[in-house]
Amino acid sequence: MSLHGAYDPDNIFAKILRGEIPSVKVWEDDHVLAFMDVFPQSEGHVLIIAKQSQARNLLEVEPEALQRLTAALQRTAKAVEKALKPEGLAIMQFNGDAGGQTVFHLHFHIVPRWRDRDLKGHGHAPMADAATLQALADRIAAELD
Ligand code: 5GP
Repeated sequence: MSLHGAYDPDNIFAKILRGEIPSVKVWEDDHVLAFMDVFPQSEGHVLIIAKQSQARNLLEVEPEALQRLTAALQRTAKAVEKALKPEGLAIMQFNGDAGGQTVFHLHFHIVPRWRDRDLKGHGHAPMADAATLQALADRIAAELD
């Protein structure tokens, strides 16, 4: 999938937003959803997406939707830091398949990092079980300001 093209309304995140496939939610409002990545690259890997925008990538997103996404990104990253006490946080965002993107609904990754823990490969991490993700989501949600 190149940087340019039509939004696919049947991409996985669109299905999550419509409730057609399950996800482990951290928090949401009318504009954004924060949920656990089911193939986490590290413990506490969270994804942030816009609900209304059909931007596939950063190049396409409306300024207002981007503003809401980045505010949600910071709010969630702060809660991840308080809840899980990582030593670092990698904020990642990929554009186009050549850029490493695999789901073509714009999203930001929050990946907690610890010096002594290796990062699992992007797109190669094992699937996490829902109970483990729910427990992490609850801990993160409890620290939201
Ligand atoms: P991208 O490669 O597009 O930057 O990131 C897509 C992310 O979505 C990956 O980190 C991948 O693990 C995650 N992902 C793929 N399918 C699902 C799914 O069905 N549910 C959730 N929660 N995450 C998914």
